[in-house]
Amino acid sequence: MKAPSFQLKNVGRTFGARVALRQVSIEIPAGQIVALVGPSGAGKSTLIRLLAGVLKPTTGHLLADGKEMTSWSWREMQKHRGSCRIIEQSHLLVSQLSVHQNTISGHLALWPWYKVMAAALWPIEKERVRAVLDSLGIAEHQFRSVSELSGGQMQRVAIARALFSDPRAIFADEPTASLDPNTAKAVTEIILAQAKARGVTLMFCTNLLSAVLPQCDRVIGLRDGELVLDSPASLLSPLALKRLYENSDERQLMATHGTNGTDLE
Ligand code: ADP
Ligand code: MG
Repeated sequence: MKAPSFQLKNVGRTFGARVALRQVSIEIPAGQIVALVGPSGAGKSTLIRLLAGVLKPTTGHLLADGKEMTSWSWREMQKHRGSCRIIEQSHLLVSQLSVHQNTISGHLALWPWYKVMAAALWPIEKERVRAVLDSLGIAEHQFRSVSELSGGQMQRVAIARALFSDPRAIFADEPTASLDPNTAKAVTEIILAQAKARGVTLMFCTNLLSAVLPQCDRVIGLRDGELVLDSPASLLSPLALKRLYENSDERQLMATHGTNGTDLE
């Protein structure tokens, strides 16, 4: 299945009186690796949820593969949602279940009922699950309970759950925010490597930009719901990045921790 392209024309999204995104126009070609940055409350998660089909725009036009998403049938929307996977900071794994069961859990809605029943009773699809876990370096934990794993290992299980469905697009929404710097870097590299190997469209929202920048094609910056930065990764201006975070809480955090100008975690 081909990776999706996206087109936004003056897309806006409000929640009651609160404006989360305003007049965003942007094109994302199929298979592009995009870093998404901006201060907290900028509208990053809202943009991700719109692209993944979890939210609908309030105004404007949102197209996937050239087709207007708002005109899709329920079935077409379900298909799109099933082909997009969001990896978040809170991975919402079921801690009482095994790594194996958590890995297949994201896929249950796409299986017939008898396969879901079988999955509850026996470890089905053992080899496929093992292959995904192996690519993430956690195959030896396949039948351990998730509650016995470290934070970094749990985040790898969340990645395995996303990859098990063979997604066409991956949206990583600050997936490493609760991990220590070394684990965060390792998890970031795994997501980027997997996205590249699979040719999916990837939007990676992070404040740990230095780990993403060498591997991504483009950097998009949002602030107060507006698109204020759109640059090829290789031409990203430190000044533009500095402006993006000016007077934000993250900027103060950056000064406190003395980070190097591209990282805010
Ligand atoms: P970011 O991910 O950049 O931190 P979000 O997209 O989560 O920003 O939020 C953008 C703005 O929209 C914020 O002001 C936030 O409070 C608001 N917002 C997001 N989701 C909701 C929601 N479900 N209900 C109400 N307000 C929301
Ligand atoms: Mg967010």
